[in-house]
Amino acid sequence: MTTTIPGYCTLCRSRCGTLNEVDREMLIAVRPDPSHPTGQAMCMKGHAAPEIVHSPHRQLYPLRRTTPKGSAGPGWQRITWEEALSETARRLGEIKAESGAEAVAFAITSPSGTPLSDSIDWIERFIRHFGSPNICFATEICNWHKDFAHAFTFGCAMPTADYENADTILLWGHNPANTWLAQAHAIGRGRKKGAAMVVVDPRPIALAHQADVWLPVRPGTDAALALGLIRMLIETRRYDEDFVRRWTNGPFLVRSSARSFTGRRD
Ligand code: SF4
Repeated sequence: MTTTIPGYCTLCRSRCGTLNEVDREMLIAVRPDPSHPTGQAMCMKGHAAPEIVHSPHRQLYPLRRTTPKGSAGPGWQRITWEEALSETARRLGEIKAESGAEAVAFAITSPSGTPLSDSIDWIERFIRHFGSPNICFATEICNWHKDFAHAFTFGCAMPTADYENADTILLWGHNPANTWLAQAHAIGRGRKKGAAMVVVDPRPIALAHQADVWLPVRPGTDAALALGLIRMLIETRRYDEDFVRRWTNGPFLVRSSARSFTGRRD
């Protein structure tokens, strides 16, 4: 007999609301739960959850290596969680006592594209408590600049755009239909309210087909397009001059003999 259990997909940070079909102990299907705030749709990864959950290759128990590294085989031996945790704690304690907490480097996978999203805060708390500043942190190639380039430039990570209330939505090398479904839905709601959409992407992604303007730039030419757009905004004076003077380093680009950002003498 099949039962339907509401929940959410934990396979990435989007956390899409789901309805999970369970037959006895088997998860047999997962579908979107439209009554959930992020349950309008799911990606292929979420739909494949039953295959992942019941895969014979899934690692369910701790294993201990019984042969030296470089041997023909690792000689994996199953151990209990109690043994695994005790052994790990003992070794970490020994290294810390012998060489200091800094002698341990922690490597963490990305919480954005993996099920780690709900656990990352606890892992980081543990590492801080242990006392090592050495963390090898994985992130997606699309994520680093979002969080850190903006933090270095503006003092905070890039906030999520208010797609739902935008007049124009510009997606520049960003494909939320594949990578962030909650954002894709916000874009859909903004489009229904009349927002125009421009997609800058060399690939004909799904959102490019729906866009009012698709700019399939050649890879590596984004900077030229950005500079061209900036030039056009300046030449047509379609920018907020007060804001630029007050909040950006634009004024440093103006010669003292010039009075406008065009660089021309008035
Ligand atoms: S986008 Fe896909 S992987 Fe991420 S939570 Fe939704 S269904 Fe799961």
